[in-house]
Amino acid sequence: MPYTYDDQNIFAKILRGEIPNDTVLETEHSLAFRDIRPQAPVHVLVIPRGSYVCYDHFAQDASDAEILDYTRAIGRVCEMEGVADGGFRLIANAGEAGVQEVPHLHVHILAGRPLGRMLERG
Ligand code: AMP
Repeated sequence: MPYTYDDQNIFAKILRGEIPNDTVLETEHSLAFRDIRPQAPVHVLVIPRGSYVCYDHFAQDASDAEILDYTRAIGRVCEMEGVADGGFRLIANAGEAGVQEVPHLHVHILAGRPLGRMLERG
């Protein structure tokens, strides 16, 4: 399907330096920063620098270098935040049913408390 990227979304503004962020990691193709409304003691968002709406868009259109960098960046943040021992969750919401608020691909890394079951009905 065609993906339409809105370059006025808040993460695009963060990438352009128009609004501040609490940076955790910067790489050539990715940026990780703390969620402004954390839902767990560790709540970091990892985004590609490229203009990708959601994960499937990225997986289809990103270069091998971007995909490698992004995947490694997620791994490095997990390591830096020490989430492996206690366990963690990665979430990539997409579209309406996924209740994606910001239309620029981001993975949530959540850890530091019991996170409950993956989905609740309703
Ligand atoms: P999603 O529902 O997956 O699109 O999640 C968007 C996330 O972005 C939410 O957890 C918000 O708290 C977070 N968020 C929105 N604006 C900012 C911002 N300026 N800095 C950091 N996180 C943000």
